Amino acid sequence: MIDTGSLEVRQTRLGYAVFSGRDQVSRDFSCEYTACGAATRLEVRSRSKTRPCICCGDQFLSTGPGHRMCNLCRPSEYRAAERHSRAVLGLQPDGYQ
Ligand SMILES: [Zn+2]
Repeated sequence: MIDTGSLEVRQTRLGYAVFSGRDQVSRDFSCEYTACGAATRLEVRSRSKTRPCICCGDQFLSTGPGHRMCNLCRPSEYRAAERHSRAVLGLQPDGYQ
């Protein structure tokens, strides 16, 4: 498991590579920019994890602790949040009353 807080790009004998602490976690890249891109991908992948949706219980790929609903359930959550913010602003939601 990669510690997302400690990934860094360092120069190696062969170019540049991503390191987690003392361990090299990517292949060697000839260009530092490419190695940085690999570090970003590795960070996203290490945060991503299959979790059950809190709404329907289906397994889905979550990108982090704040991502707990599958894609099918999330849009309705956003619509609810939007209705709420409109109510706070004093706007009548569609079909209200
Ligand atoms: Zn769901």
